[in-house]
Amino acid sequence: MKFEILFPQSTFNACREHLLREVTRENMVFCWAGHILDNDTTRFLVYKFESVPHEEFDVHSGSYIQIKKYFYQDKVRFAYKNKSHLIIWHSHPFANNAYFSATDNENDNQQGKYLNKKIPKLYFIAMLSGQKSTSARIYCKNNSIRNIDRLTILSRQGYAQIFQNNNEKKRWKNDSTETAWLSVMRVKCGLRI
Ligand SMILES: [Zn+2]
Repeated sequence: MKFEILFPQSTFNACREHLLREVTRENMVFCWAGHILDNDTTRFLVYKFESVPHEEFDVHSGSYIQIKKYFYQDKVRFAYKNKSHLIIWHSHPFANNAYFSATDNENDNQQGKYLNKKIPKLYFIAMLSGQKSTSARIYCKNNSIRNIDRLTILSRQGYAQIFQNNNEKKRWKNDSTETAWLSVMRVKCGLRI
């Protein structure tokens, strides 16, 4: 099975902007996505995001962030109610490249295990941005973590692929077949974006 995440360009840009707006502190956004299965690929389409304001953190520093429990549970509940998947995206503004830290590994393992048990149909995805790159990984149903195969940004110009841990040189393509296919997919996911 392969995994792909698709972001509307405006959502992707707004998230990145929020995540990297402070150079001295990490930040976090929540995204919710629908999915479709397409042969050997599960495609997640992000339809909503919410950034975490400063006052909703218990710890908010340059090396560690922890959000308030009720706030987290509220976001998980939204995913459950709307039969969506949850993406938790945070930043390492002090780094160029997005490499998950040992603390991130521990947190994501713990969180993935918890969510798998609590909401078996939900997929938990962790994303990370540095100044110049973005990484994404998914917590699988067998309790292992693996990288997302493709991150795709959708815009009026067409679509662009972001390669993990490479500089974000977006290569815009305007392949009408692919763009048309993506419109069909949006409808299949029941999304209006
Ligand atoms: Zn981190």
